[in-house]
This record gives sequence, structure tokens and C-alpha cells, in this order.
Amino acid sequence: MTTATSAPAGRAPATSAASGPVGAAPAAPAYRFFAVTVARTQQLGPSFRRLTLAGPALTGFGAGGDDQRIKLVISRDGRPVEGLLTDGPNWYQDYCALPDDVRPYLRTYTVRAARPGLGELDVHVVLHGVDGGHAGPAASWAAAAEPGDPVVVLGPDRPGRGRPWGCEWAPPLTGPLFLAGDETAVPAIGAILEALPGERPTIAVLEVPTAGDVLPLDVPPGVEVRWLVRGSRSRGEALGPAVHAALCELGVAKRSAGEDPEDVDLGRGLLWEVPERRTEGCYAWLAGEAGMVKALRRRLVRDLGLPRTSVAFMGYWRLGAAEGS
Ligand SMILES: Cc1cc2nc3c(=O)[nH]c(=O)nc-3n(C[C@H](O)[C@H](O)[C@H](O)COP(=O)(O)OP(=O)(O)OC[C@H]3O[C@@H](n4cnc5c(N)ncnc54)[C@H](O)[C@@H]3O)c2cc1C
Repeated sequence: MTTATSAPAGRAPATSAASGPVGAAPAAPAYRFFAVTVARTQQLGPSFRRLTLAGPALTGFGAGGDDQRIKLVISRDGRPVEGLLTDGPNWYQDYCALPDDVRPYLRTYTVRAARPGLGELDVHVVLHGVDGGHAGPAASWAAAAEPGDPVVVLGPDRPGRGRPWGCEWAPPLTGPLFLAGDETAVPAIGAILEALPGERPTIAVLEVPTAGDVLPLDVPPGVEVRWLVRGSRSRGEALGPAVHAALCELGVAKRSAGEDPEDVDLGRGLLWEVPERRTEGCYAWLAGEAGMVKALRRRLVRDLGLPRTSVAFMGYWRLGAAEGS
């Protein structure tokens, strides 16, 4: 039994990068805090709220595209948090050293769209539990957010692509593409699909809470998006068979069973395993609630015979556990 690897942005690399020679790959970014305000909000569906965050500092935000993640830093008591945070390589130690009753919440979100030229970025927040009284701090904050509200974003300080920018999407150059996830993965999958060049067999299967959460996506030819409405079913119940069917249609599922993936211990650490970039073959990208993602990955690798090295899987959140707990 193993615990999956590779920490997402809570431990974002906080290197200070030197500028390289002309023509060299961009130097890895440093991570810094951007003080912003909520500029606009839009209710996209019963479960999704778009927050457009804006501020002059964001003209220096390092947009990475695809499934780029950031952290929102949310005040514990409504008071401004900027004065509590330090930029630079020790930001995380300094953050952890803050007293428990002061330390703000750090929550991971996807950059659904970035407009650094305008000093803006959009996040689509799932309003989980806001009606039933069990929402987390980020969902509660987003549900009540109004234009002018302050918040802080943790992200890279220069544009680029790939893992140093918090982007995990790394498909091979050829072969079919497959993506699946719950509502928390909809912003990432939407951003990935809308940026695809197209003309490559691609299926995305998305499970959302209600029919009103089916959002318009502007995808290129060759990309098929299948929405599943969870309704009263349990999370992932509809996804399993739909994932199976989609992979058979893409022609990548073997008839015989594949290897048994090492079991992943959900009790410790993060559920996060992203293979190194390959040059060809089917690429599968799975994200959402950790237990659901674990079951989907097992289906892909054990039941459908996909090589483990073709499957990126990410537990975006865990049922019953606050982020970082
Ligand atoms: C790389 C990455 C990208 C992400 N992108 C997005 C995104 O773009 N939009 C988005 O909405 N989320 C996204 N998430 C998921 C988000 O970080 C979590 O849902 C987070 O836990 C929400 O914080 P909170 O303060 O509302 O709840 P927490 O305080 O973390 O949790 C409180 C309780 O709520 C439960 N809970 C948390 N999230 C959900 C949920 N979605 N549905 C039901 N119960 C939940 C927990 O199990 C816990 O019991 C992303 C996560 C990662 C790792």
C-alpha cells in the first residue's frame, strides 16, 4: 500500500528564480501573495459561483493555463490578512508559525481564466454545503462575497507552463485524451478543453450536482463533453459506468484485465499521482473527491487495462476532511 505523491500548491515551490540566458526556458517562478478584491460575481448554476478577482498586483500574476491551481487566503475573522503574510522562500513556515486563532485559511482553486493585462482572474467556486450549514470557510466566503471584498491569492510571479506553475495537465503529443471529475474539477477540465487545439479524439465526463450546473463550454471540434447529473445518487455512482463506456469508445480499453494498481492509502497524505510526460498513447486525467478518484483509477488500470503511467489522478478534496487537516 502506498501513499500517492507530489504535493499540490499548499507547499508550492517558493524558490527565488534568477533570470536565465536569452532563449532559455523560463526560470521557475517564485510564489507570492497578491492582494486583490472581488470585482464581480456571477451565479453560474445552483452550485457554481464565478468570482472575478482584480487588482493592480495581478498584472504581475504568472498565468500558466490549463489546470493551473492557486491558493485563496481567507481571513479567519474578517480582518485583513495581508499584514500576516510574508513573500519569499519562507512564506509557508512563517504562515504555519502564526497563532491558530489568527492563521488564515488556505484553500486551493483553479484559475478558470486569467487576464493579467487587465489585472484580473476568474475562479469558479463550488458552493458546497452553504444551504445545509456544513460549508467550509472558502465556500461560505464565496457564497457571501460581494464586489469590493478583499482576499489574497497565492500564485506564481511570472508566466510559464508546467508543474512549477501548478499545472498538472501534461498529455503526450499523440493519442486519445480522456478527462473525468466531479464538480470541483469542472473549472480545470473546462480550461483544459477550451485550450485544446482540437482534431484529437477527446471525451470528458463530468458529474455535477444538478441539471442547472451543466455549464456551456467552448470546445474545439473532436472534443465531446458528457455531463452527468448526480441528483440523489451517491457521488461517483454515475461516473463509473460512464467512464468505462467512454474509454471503450475511445478504443483504448483492453479486453482483458490490466495490472492491479498499488492500493492508495487515503488515511495519510494526498491522493496525487501524475506520471511524467510520455510521447504517445492515451492520456487520462482524473480529479475530484479522493475516494471517488481512487475508485475511478482502479477501474481504468485494473479493469480496463490502461497503463498506470497513462493516468494522472488527483484528489482535489476529501469527504469529511477540511483542506490541510
Ligand atoms: C488543484 C485543486 C484545484 C481545485 N479547484 C477547485 C475549483 O476550481 N473550484 C472548487 O470549487 N474547488 C476546487 N478545488 C477543491 C477545493 O479546494 C475544496 O473543495 C476545498 O476543500 C474547499 O474548501 P472549504 O473551505 O469550502 O471546505 P473545507 O474546510 O476544506 O472542508 C469542510 C468540509 O467540507 C467538505 N467539502 C470540501 N469540499 C467539498 C465539496 N466540493 N463538496 C462537498 N463537500 C466538500 C470537506 O470534506 C469537509 O468535511 C480544488 C482542489 C485542488 C487540490
